[in-house]
Amino acid sequence: MKLGWIGLGNMGQPMVTRLLNAGFDVTVYNRTRSKAEPFAQLGAKIAESPRDLARQVDTVITMVSDGATLEEVLYGEGGLLGGVREGQTVIDMSTVGPEPVQKAAAAFAEQGVKFLEAPVSGSVGPAKDGTLVILVGGDEAAYEVHKPMFDVLGKASFHFGENGQGANAKLAINLMLGVFLQGLSEALVLGSKAGLDRATLLNAIAQTAVAAPIVLGKTPSILADEFPAAFALKHMEKDFGLALDVAKKSEAALPATSASHQTYVAAKANGLGDHDLMAILSQLERLSGLK
Ligand code: NAP
Repeated sequence: MKLGWIGLGNMGQPMVTRLLNAGFDVTVYNRTRSKAEPFAQLGAKIAESPRDLARQVDTVITMVSDGATLEEVLYGEGGLLGGVREGQTVIDMSTVGPEPVQKAAAAFAEQGVKFLEAPVSGSVGPAKDGTLVILVGGDEAAYEVHKPMFDVLGKASFHFGENGQGANAKLAINLMLGVFLQGLSEALVLGSKAGLDRATLLNAIAQTAVAAPIVLGKTPSILADEFPAAFALKHMEKDFGLALDVAKKSEAALPATSASHQTYVAAKANGLGDHDLMAILSQLERLSGLK
């Protein structure tokens, strides 16, 4: 199976590296070509456009920023839809919500091409280690065919049903992540205002029932007060918006998600969008006069 990969950002780079190291035949495309060039040394071929890439491979995977970017890559000038042929599969692993993937599934079906969405839970570390959790919607047979590839990228994959359901599962998990990190940040702000030592408080939290791998993972950056993006805060803000869109349509009341979204909006407006989502702590510290 020849794979094509579009999008070599924070997630795409380690994911493609794993596929190449596992022996897959991979052709890559990235808007900023300089990010694609190092992959030639690992054995990847480089395509000039999504359309050019589609002509060279059996299955195309996209891992790009958001719904607008996905539309550009699929339907824009030199887009994927213009290069596909019957029998191929396209898999979007970005987080874009249910509507763009349902639209794409219908558009590609007209060309005889199967479309899966397979967004992931887990950041750059799990992408490097192959321990992502992959949340799939779309044709089940196509999922089974591509499971060996998912097994290289993740420790588990789940097929949730028709197109849109993998996207919905991803939004459910991510809203919990965003609310949880705001909760952790509020605990740390309270601790600082009360004069508690932050390192000791984090050590104590790590032993309690609310300890989670993400607390341990973020502890070094919290203590260093440095937040280089693994998962950019602007993407978390996007995911809150997508979850609230689904909630509005389905009459799901999500009061904590709604309130937390506003904190992330404010953080983005204050220039923290390209920092890691853990920079939500900096936003809350500013609100309390700690910064
Ligand atoms: P990222 O580092 O911001 O990379 C975005 C990618 O999209 C880059 O390859 C970028 O190309 C491309 N892109 C952006 N605008 C484009 C356009 N107009 N046309 C063509 N390509 C464009 O994002 P990421 O962190 O890898 O995340 C990718 C997706 O996975 C997002 O939907 C995110 O929500 C989701 N996700 C991320 C994480 C995480 O921890 N980072 C975890 C789970 C899910 P350039 O290089 O040219 O800018």
